[in-house]
Amino acid sequence: MIACYGDGDIAVNTRCQQLISMGKIYTPCIRVWSIKVTPSVQLFVFLLLNGRISTQDMLLRKGLQVVPGCALCGSNTVETALHLFFQCSFACQFWSEMSRVTAMPNPSLKDTVLESILATCKGFDGASKRGWEVLTLLSLWTLWCERNHRIFRGKQRPVQILVQKVLQEERYLNGFATPIT
Ligand SMILES: [Zn+2]
Repeated sequence: MIACYGDGDIAVNTRCQQLISMGKIYTPCIRVWSIKVTPSVQLFVFLLLNGRISTQDMLLRKGLQVVPGCALCGSNTVETALHLFFQCSFACQFWSEMSRVTAMPNPSLKDTVLESILATCKGFDGASKRGWEVLTLLSLWTLWCERNHRIFRGKQRPVQILVQKVLQEERYLNGFATPIT
């Protein structure tokens, strides 16, 4: 597993540099580690940017059998990361609610997840840039957790609840609230 937490672990950072030089990971992905969210969220987004999370299309490429379908919107197409986080009707509702509540711009949809996330963050400017980057990473993580929640626990939560979870997590990171359980 690749992990490079800030400047703290020289050995692992060296490994990251090796992977960059080999073209195994993209240089912009390294910036994920400087965004102030928890290490688990950083790692998740890093893996997402590098196409390493276990969506259905990846499982199929590994030769595993899956029943096609999106846990978020219920469509019966093979789940991809691009669909799950950007094209899915449920994800679009979630981003719209995030935008309504926080004034954060809606994400930019490109051909890949990597391009979409980079374009989204590139579109942020001004005093809110850092805060919106944090909210974007927390949002991606929350959508992934909701996807897993539905698949493994069989329970669904509406977009409004998920948006409140993101905002609660942001307040916790800023030291104004208790951790989410
Ligand atoms: Zn969907």
